[in-house]
Amino acid sequence: MLEPATPPVRAPIPMRQPTVEWQVAGACNYDCSYCIQSPKYRRGRPEAAQLDAALAFFSTLPGVWEIKCSGGEAFAHPLFLQQVVPGLMDRTPHQISVLTNLSASPAALEAFLDRTAGRLAVFSASLHLEHVDPDAFLDKAAAVAARLSPGARLVVNQVVLPGKLAEAAMCKAKAEARGLRWFPQLFKTKAGVSGYPGEDAALAALIGDAPGPREANLAPSYRGRRCWAGVDYFTVDKEGFAWSCRSAKRHGEGLLGNIFDGGAARWTTPRACPYDRCPCTVPPNRGMVEGVQPSRPSTSTAWAEVEG
Ligand code: SF4
Ligand code: SF4
Repeated sequence: MLEPATPPVRAPIPMRQPTVEWQVAGACNYDCSYCIQSPKYRRGRPEAAQLDAALAFFSTLPGVWEIKCSGGEAFAHPLFLQQVVPGLMDRTPHQISVLTNLSASPAALEAFLDRTAGRLAVFSASLHLEHVDPDAFLDKAAAVAARLSPGARLVVNQVVLPGKLAEAAMCKAKAEARGLRWFPQLFKTKAGVSGYPGEDAALAALIGDAPGPREANLAPSYRGRRCWAGVDYFTVDKEGFAWSCRSAKRHGEGLLGNIFDGGAARWTTPRACPYDRCPCTVPPNRGMVEGVQPSRPSTSTAWAEVEG
């Protein structure tokens, strides 16, 4: 008699990578003309006591979360390397990711990579041609990529500006020639994703005909889909307010509390997305939006695409 076939043993696939997007500083040392954050808003740096409260709160999150640090510019906050990074490494079990314009000194970057070795998930370097030479930037990014510990990954982000697609294509080619992953972000305005009049073919050549959230940030609508934002994903702004997601904050909804003062209470169940635009690729790429992306194993390399 034939024995029943033994089903193949597969590693369990986690459905979601719990993730916080933390604006560790409002201020930035650049002033890009296309920045989605207005100069009036792009200011402020949390103080040591506030950062301490945030770190204490993160230490209470169950399991291993990905804490994605952004700004403004994270490295331009003197306490980022002095307090935030060591605090996350020493006081929590979480992974760290960072979104940076890569203006930090080689010594500061080296210190960051040393301190986060084995716990760094995604190093996201945003290329801003108004401030840097692309070759110098990409050489610096390649040097960081060569220093990453196993499991970490570097992505080069670039906002693709209308009328400047050739410039973006040039940067993409230069990045890929250095073995770097280039991730395009369509230009966003307060009303949504910008148009690219007369540039449809060039845009498709650059980002593909129908890119998913792993290929480009198009800020699509997931209205009606079940989303775990507020449960396994939330954002924290420079004032410590925790929001279920960026769209919710924009609508003045989804406030979970303030982690500088009193903490935040996550929701216990997912909800149907009520918004017309999901401006960030992090929720779908971390498995928060049901039916959008097949979930992948929760290795740090599986969650490589990030907002820049
Ligand atoms: S580097 Fe980023 S945060 Fe800073 S001004 Fe430019 S787009 Fe804005
Ligand atoms: S799908 Fe996007 S916009 Fe909608 S609730 Fe989830 S994170 Fe927010």
